[in-house]
Amino acid sequence: MAAGLPPGGAWELAPVRIVRAQFARASRHLDHLEPGLVDYLRLPLRTITINLPVEMDDGHVENFVGYRVLHNSLLGPGKGGIRFHPEVSLEEVSALAALMTWKCALVRLPFGGAKGGVTCDPKQLSRREQRRITRRFIADLGDNIGPYTDIPAPDMYTDAQTMAWVYDTYDNMHPGTNNLPVVTGKPLELGGSKGRNEATGRGVVLALERALSLGVLPGLDGLDGARVAIQGFGEVGRVAARLLPERGAQVIAISDSRGGVLAEDGDSLDLDAVTAHKADMGTVVGLPETRSITNDDLLALPCDLLIPAALGGQIHAGNAAGVQARLIVEGANRPVTPEADDILTRRGIQVLPDILANAGGVTVSYYEWVQNIEHHSWPLDDIHGRLRARINDATDRVVARWRGFPADCPESSGELCTDLRTASLVEALQRLRLVVEQRGIWP
Ligand code: NAD
Repeated sequence: MAAGLPPGGAWELAPVRIVRAQFARASRHLDHLEPGLVDYLRLPLRTITINLPVEMDDGHVENFVGYRVLHNSLLGPGKGGIRFHPEVSLEEVSALAALMTWKCALVRLPFGGAKGGVTCDPKQLSRREQRRITRRFIADLGDNIGPYTDIPAPDMYTDAQTMAWVYDTYDNMHPGTNNLPVVTGKPLELGGSKGRNEATGRGVVLALERALSLGVLPGLDGLDGARVAIQGFGEVGRVAARLLPERGAQVIAISDSRGGVLAEDGDSLDLDAVTAHKADMGTVVGLPETRSITNDDLLALPCDLLIPAALGGQIHAGNAAGVQARLIVEGANRPVTPEADDILTRRGIQVLPDILANAGGVTVSYYEWVQNIEHHSWPLDDIHGRLRARINDATDRVVARWRGFPADCPESSGELCTDLRTASLVEALQRLRLVVEQRGIWP
């Protein structure tokens, strides 16, 4: 991986460990929460493992394993992507489902958290094989997914086409009713929402802009003139890179899986040229009039803002001391480990966490679900306005909670963490706790 392994090895990067550590830090702020309720908020409600026999293009049969985890349904039906990847495991899917619970609670969406995946290597599968895996998986999940129970979406190596197959399979099994809200991230022609593709990158920029305006970074109260480095030039990184200069920021460096480019003389990159070069060459590396750098170099660049928007586990105990940005904005899910959080906090570097910074995607997924239920399609401006209002509101609540942490807490000493991530999680968990208390435990 680009950022190497931390000195302690791969255990530091394990999603389940990261999520557990983050939860433990936040739950220390929740007074008088009995252990049974802590477990209820922490552990998945339901895990499903399915063996999927699939006939391959050459006629032989292969068995794949699929998972769907519903982490929590206090606030509404489960919501979370389905990923196809060789490293998909029940542990990973469970950890990602927990992140979805917190993200939805933080942004106040009427959803619980869920996640799914099939252990497979999509690069070795034809489109027809992927379609058969999807159909078999969805058919075998049966009524464990549904418009009001658990609603999938795209994730790593699944896309709008995969979601069209999810819908089609479910619709064939449940004829005679409006099944469009069973899945989001669908193609526009099939009930997808305008603005969904760029929602996560846009949400990153909105959360960042709002947090700066609230003074989280002394001396920088807006994006105008901010110098930004972005890791990843995919759906999230590319959109953020396009929107930031519109607000006066300078994108000085950007990378993909093969490496990165840094503008000569500390200037801004010409993003049209970066996009054209990526389209021609398959990578940003080698763009004329830029300096080629590694992903490790990018993470250590002197700049105001660093946006990891590629993979998890990029900033860890082994490289956090070298980060020179003043604020890290987590476009990707869990790019900063708890060990790195501690190092960064000690160094005065803030982290705008994933459950806030990349919540734009699930927010517009929610809008897609509502539009499908209403048999309606909202204009793009309407979606942008609603997204901005919701991200601003969540950012305001996180910053208020962060400012409300007692000043004499030993910062990230293992006792009581007082960083923005913990503030976001406490905000989410407090909402869940309130709802448990209001609903009561069944029966
Ligand atoms: P993507 O596949 O469109 O793009 C990923 C980018 O990361 C590509 O540019 C790729 O070249 C780059 N990359 C891959 N390996 C890398 C490496 N080792 N070092 C540096 N760059 C590398 O993915 P995306 O949709 O942009 O998602 C990026 C991250 O954001 C993921 O962690 C994803 O889970 C998270 N996320 C995405 C969404 C969404 O709606 N797309 C929502 C929430 C979170």
